[in-house]
Amino acid sequence: MPTTAELLEQADAHSAHNYHPLPVVIAAAEGAWMTDVEGRRYLDLLAGYSALNFGHRNRRLVEAAKAQLERVTLISRAFYHDRFAAFCSELAELCGMEAVLPMNTGAEAVETAVKTARKWGYQVKGVPDGQAKIIVVDGNFHGRTTTIISFSTDPEARAEFGPYTPGFEIVPYGDLAALEVVVDENTVAVLLEPIQGEAGVLVPPPGYLAGVRRITAERNVLFVADEIQSGLGRTGRTFACEHEGVVPDMYVLGKALGGGVVPVSTVVANRSVLGVYRPGEHGSAFGGNPLACAVALDVIAMLRTGDFQQRAAELGDHLHAELDALVGGGVDAVRGRGLWAGVDIHPGQGTGREVSERLMERGVLVKDTHGATIRLAPPLVITKDDLDWGLAHLRDVLEVA
Ligand SMILES: *Cc1c(COP(=O)(O)O)cnc(C)c1O
Repeated sequence: MPTTAELLEQADAHSAHNYHPLPVVIAAAEGAWMTDVEGRRYLDLLAGYSALNFGHRNRRLVEAAKAQLERVTLISRAFYHDRFAAFCSELAELCGMEAVLPMNTGAEAVETAVKTARKWGYQVKGVPDGQAKIIVVDGNFHGRTTTIISFSTDPEARAEFGPYTPGFEIVPYGDLAALEVVVDENTVAVLLEPIQGEAGVLVPPPGYLAGVRRITAERNVLFVADEIQSGLGRTGRTFACEHEGVVPDMYVLGKALGGGVVPVSTVVANRSVLGVYRPGEHGSAFGGNPLACAVALDVIAMLRTGDFQQRAAELGDHLHAELDALVGGGVDAVRGRGLWAGVDIHPGQGTGREVSERLMERGVLVKDTHGATIRLAPPLVITKDDLDWGLAHLRDVLEVA
């Protein structure tokens, strides 16, 4: 059995260095816990950026996948399969909308949302061909494709990947006045995260989402909510938009929809929006495959009970009470909602990366973002005792620094 050091060296020698992972090599996982190749156990307080909302190897989801593996896994969209109808209708119902367009990764779903909004703009709104404008916000994260990084404001994500896709205008996040000014007759959509994950779990000011809804409705513009990370239970509701009683025109979903088993993403909207497509205009060989649909169907059923949302809300209140108590003691600020927090580490305590490394040595895994911030997004199945154990270590590494 190779050692951790050997595996790290081999991985780094033969992979592109587009990530800077913590030096831990995972071999197994269950629930909120992961085990490395040397048998050390770690509490997972990241949950794959919300891809693992239901925990590692959730029994129900693994059983759903296994059962489907024994029947049919992939057919392409050239034919129908017997899980597709239920997947589309049940996901649409969960979202309170009429139709679903399945893809695989989050970035693909965002690309789908961009294409959908443009086509809607030309066909329904009557925007002159080639003139459609989509408004996005500062600090956004919507994925890594060429078009998506074209409207990123993060130099790391953007630099040296041009020429960039035109058709986007960036306004400050949380600023309704700035948004209202740039909406024009060619604007087809406002695309934003109702809570910005990668940016450091930024919650917009109260009334912002409701204001975006009002402006977009008044100006005949689609409100596209990227709920890939914020949606499906994370914030204590099925969708983060619900905290302001807002229903967008399009949900973009991914991450947790695949239950931590397979990549599943979708755009969900009413027929008046998704009805713009004709056969051949968009698609994916893997999108909506039987295995993906089987797993996602159980994810949807689990969300329908409301239990995970309630758990995220209750444990989230506890998490935020504990984290708020650290402000001034090694922590400069805490943001977030539900079981999701961005914690700004005081510079005297070291960088977010250094705090993450110290936590790793104690068996707690988190991820830093933007230098000084660590992000906590535990699996929603975590026990209160395990969460408290992880938080005790966070307190300790801040005190010893
Ligand atoms: C992760 C994420 C994406 C991209 O998803 P991938 O599956 O990595 O392509 C897009 N939007 C948001 C808000 C995300 O958190």
